[in-house]
Amino acid sequence: MEAKLLIAVPRPLRTLLTYVHPTPNPIDLLGCRVSVPLGHGSSIGVVLGLADEQAVNQYKLKAIKTLLDREPLLDAHLIELIQWSTRYYQHTIGEVVFTALPNALRDGKPLPQTTTWQALHKPAASSQLKRAKRQADLYQWLIQQNVPCSASALHAHVGDGWRQVLVALINKGLVQEQLSLPQTGLPSLGKVTPKLELSEQQNTCLEQCRVWIKAPNPQPTLLHGVTGSGKTEIYLRLIEDTLASHKQTLILVPEIGLTPQLVQRFTDHFPEQHISSLHSGLNDTERLQGWMEARSGQADIVIGTRSAVFTAFAHLGLIIIDEEHDTSFKQQEGFRYHGRDLAIKRAQMLNIPILMGTATPALETLHNAEQGRYHYFRLEQRPGKARQPSLEVQDIRGQHLHSGLSKLTLQALERTLERNEQAMLFINRRGFAPMLLCPACGWLAHCPACSSNMTYHARKSRLICHHCGADERAESHCPACNHPQLMTQGHGTERIELVLQQYFPETPIVRIDRDTTSRKGALERHLETVRTTERLLLVGTQMLAKGHDFPNLTLVVILDVDAALLSSEYHALERFGQLLTQVAGRSGRSDKPGHVILQTTQPQHPMLLTLLQSGYLAFARQLIEERKRWQFPPFSYQALIRAEAAEMEQALQHLEQLRAVIPSQAGVFIMGPVPAPLEKRAERYRAQLLVQAESRHLRHICLTYLTSQEKNSANQKSIRWSIDVDPVELS
Ligand code: ADP
Ligand code: ZN
Ligand code: ZN
Repeated sequence: MEAKLLIAVPRPLRTLLTYVHPTPNPIDLLGCRVSVPLGHGSSIGVVLGLADEQAVNQYKLKAIKTLLDREPLLDAHLIELIQWSTRYYQHTIGEVVFTALPNALRDGKPLPQTTTWQALHKPAASSQLKRAKRQADLYQWLIQQNVPCSASALHAHVGDGWRQVLVALINKGLVQEQLSLPQTGLPSLGKVTPKLELSEQQNTCLEQCRVWIKAPNPQPTLLHGVTGSGKTEIYLRLIEDTLASHKQTLILVPEIGLTPQLVQRFTDHFPEQHISSLHSGLNDTERLQGWMEARSGQADIVIGTRSAVFTAFAHLGLIIIDEEHDTSFKQQEGFRYHGRDLAIKRAQMLNIPILMGTATPALETLHNAEQGRYHYFRLEQRPGKARQPSLEVQDIRGQHLHSGLSKLTLQALERTLERNEQAMLFINRRGFAPMLLCPACGWLAHCPACSSNMTYHARKSRLICHHCGADERAESHCPACNHPQLMTQGHGTERIELVLQQYFPETPIVRIDRDTTSRKGALERHLETVRTTERLLLVGTQMLAKGHDFPNLTLVVILDVDAALLSSEYHALERFGQLLTQVAGRSGRSDKPGHVILQTTQPQHPMLLTLLQSGYLAFARQLIEERKRWQFPPFSYQALIRAEAAEMEQALQHLEQLRAVIPSQAGVFIMGPVPAPLEKRAERYRAQLLVQAESRHLRHICLTYLTSQEKNSANQKSIRWSIDVDPVELS
């Protein structure tokens, strides 16, 4: 029988293509890869559905060339998730499917498999093997092993000639050959870490979680625990429960590379379990490995970054999202999905529990929790003797600063070091200084390709654009007037490191930012130094805000956050509150009290005062009120339409045309088009249009008008445009 198959190909198409293939069981092909004729050549594709007989009758359909998989890579549930995300994010189906597949499978290569052998229990075996001693030995051994054995294991046991012996057993029907996955997984150090005794709060929270998890329709749950309150311990216990019911757990984390400690805690806690990790630091083969382990059910626990949300699982039973507020869960180019939101959707489709943990919930998550759409559990204290750090605002208006540091800050650093403790200085800018200029003529180092300054990197003596990567030598003379001395303005991590070296020449200083950690293993080495050096200064960017646990760190100094306080972007304050709380939370995590100094020229900023005096929850609630007043998300639903062209005029015009295809309707506001905050990046001018609707449904209708226009604008190749649903930044 000839089946009509709906196939996604990796092209910018919004529809599936129909091909025919002779098969009695077309359902079995769903989720398999195929090779199909396309245009003058051929393409790989993935079977996602069966065509409606009537709908396609009039066409002369082509046949698929080859079926590439013997079994589906994607199950029905994943196909449904993919189709749902395609609709929700208004993205092309091909790109969504191929994002969901590991890189190594995108070009049609077969799934790597190894052969293993297992003995079959046969009563007649002993008589069959009476006169073949080697065969009888091997058969007995295989029976004892009770698991499929690899070629190397057989060779090790039998020695040379093993294959002949094996083949004889296979021919007698006593051994079965099978294809299975090669074994790997994260190494466990094999040391058993003693289990911590949970605090009373943790215990109460865990009990609540256990009741929730067993519910027939578990709602998503927010675990809002202050930094260092022991959320990870709760995760570990819930995973134990999940393992006990023979289910797998998916843990999504912002950036694994930044938190090797976290992964270590899982491997230490579960030395017997198979843990796979999936993140961008792996090569394609390693990623594929992890993906297949999850799919076969071999992996008990999968820890991954956002794209791991598309991992195929044999029996997924629990999803945990650590640091759910982190914007790295949102993909910022191409298929712009939110890993957290898709995970929630996935959990809902599978009817399994999902737990989101954070000290600083995203406003939309907090709002959902407070509205009763999510369960809401809280941990308000650190376990044991650890307490939340004390906060101090330093008004630096009119003060003389020593390369960005106030006198009081320097004194506080000195006292911390005298006590043999560690201090951390946080500044969210790498490089030496964000501006290099000429005092004589006013020349400013500007990126030739972007509407932004070049950052001066003193150690390499280079000017680097942090938007497009343009990189040139920093000259000692002014290129405009030849003045022999240029000056810098502002501070970056490199400059802070330098000033600390001058003030504290005897103290080890570790700088952690993209420049010092780009080499493989560099971050781990730096973190190791922090762990093993009692008295030390640590300088870094927001890489330091993420989940690190430094027991001897007691002072955190936060520099230069005023831009965030003064920004007109409505997301900026939320991020500011999260970042400040997270950075502050790195201090005082063991029994020594922590202290935080914030240097600012905005000490009276009302939101800053709320944050410092009443904490993140009060701060977030106030921001939610403000969002409500302005009808911003979560009280409305946004999509940002971006366009890029060689001229600003073209980009704006294109967005005007798009705007015109959306009929005006009640409940929909369209703002723009306007030039983007960064008007030009890498020689391209950028403009944007904001669609804001009262409901997701209305937004979806508007966006569907836009995507239906795509064909008409196909002739304007020089203009690129994209849709960003639920944007996490408007730039
Ligand atoms: P969070 O994930 O909430 O930031 P962690 O789970 O990392 O917090 O815990 C912070 C620190 O407190 C860790 O060093 C952890 O080992 C320790 N800790 C957590 N729970 C307990 C407990 N019940 N007793 C003692 N120490 C604990
Ligand atoms: Zn000059
Ligand atoms: Zn640039």
